[in-house]
Amino acid sequence: MRFRNSTFFVTGGAGFIGSAVIRHLIRDTQATVVNIDKLTYAANLDSLPNTEGNSRYKFAKVDICDGTELRKLFELYQPDYVMNLAAESHVDRSIDGPSAFIQTNIVGTFTLLQESLSYWKTQDQQKRERFRFHHISTDEVFGSLGPEGYFSETTPYAPNSPYSASKASSDHLVRAWHETYELPIIVTNCSNNYGPYHFPEKLIPHMIIKALQRQPLPVYGDGLNIRDWLYVEDHARALTLAIEFGKVGGSYNIGGRSERTNIEVVRAICHILDEIDPATHSSREGLIVFVEDRPGHDRRYAIDVTKIERELGWRADESFESGIEKTVRWYCDNRWWWQAILDKGYQPLRVGLKI
Ligand code: NAD
Repeated sequence: MRFRNSTFFVTGGAGFIGSAVIRHLIRDTQATVVNIDKLTYAANLDSLPNTEGNSRYKFAKVDICDGTELRKLFELYQPDYVMNLAAESHVDRSIDGPSAFIQTNIVGTFTLLQESLSYWKTQDQQKRERFRFHHISTDEVFGSLGPEGYFSETTPYAPNSPYSASKASSDHLVRAWHETYELPIIVTNCSNNYGPYHFPEKLIPHMIIKALQRQPLPVYGDGLNIRDWLYVEDHARALTLAIEFGKVGGSYNIGGRSERTNIEVVRAICHILDEIDPATHSSREGLIVFVEDRPGHDRRYAIDVTKIERELGWRADESFESGIEKTVRWYCDNRWWWQAILDKGYQPLRVGLKI
């Protein structure tokens, strides 16, 4: 069984992707997992069912900018692997308030690197060889594509938003900690994820919840921006393969081979909901409205996944069609999860417009 007698630190484990990684590690491996999360607005411990009382799961409410608290966790748990998913992750919020992005995404990653390095240096050779610092990043660091071409691992960085610039900075720090201090690192850059337990501010859950409530579905600009969508559980599997078999010091791009325009995504959600819940009213497509675009909205992202497919044997299991259907059904069947977020006061207001 994979990861027997191994301890993982998963930072940001109460978030969307971090919780998928923890569910996967607990369900499919024998790893022990320490979830290190500050519990920001985006966190939700309800996304980790079946962890309560599980002896292989621990939780620490700690900020990755807090070196002292991190040091205590390293001393206590002696991890074999660190997966860094803690981040501020919403591009629109980064436009209005970049400071938290600089703090967590850059200073937090720096602090985690420093504490990982101090810990790693004190380990015996066997443990040092096994240790990995895995930094989870985004394809947005590469900027925007025209109608042709793909991002590969050698595409130059050209981030356009405060969010992607902060992620690009952290990727560079991680790489430098390998080149300078020989810390064994892996970086992965993934395309847009979707799936269960996704905070309602992001495009797909936002549209599903609005469409369920028969409210207007606001599509930015002309709706023709393209993203390469990946089902979150496929991403979680790719991440544990990368940490287990990836080449130290290297990076892997992860994507779904599923490019779709935003308007195609929203129409797909409407069609599935119309089928699940055929209404006496007209199709939910009639709820779509085009609204002011996001400033600096990247036009197209698309990932060349050849390297991770060839070197690690990873393939996405879900097509966009199967994944989006599962996702819409999950939001229909798990209203309690997102209704609790709305009940706590989350309001789906537009943010990140030009000042
Ligand atoms: P998320 O916003 O859903 O979750 C982030 C988690 O990090 C939250 O639980 C939050 O409480 C925690 N956190 C924030 N600041 C922290 C801090 N200072 N200390 C400790 N915990 C903190 O994000 P996500 O969508 O799950 O993304 C996870 C990672 O994957 C991010 O690094 C993001 O850049 C990257 N990524 C996301 C996508 C995507 O489509 N969502 C795609 C590619 C890469």
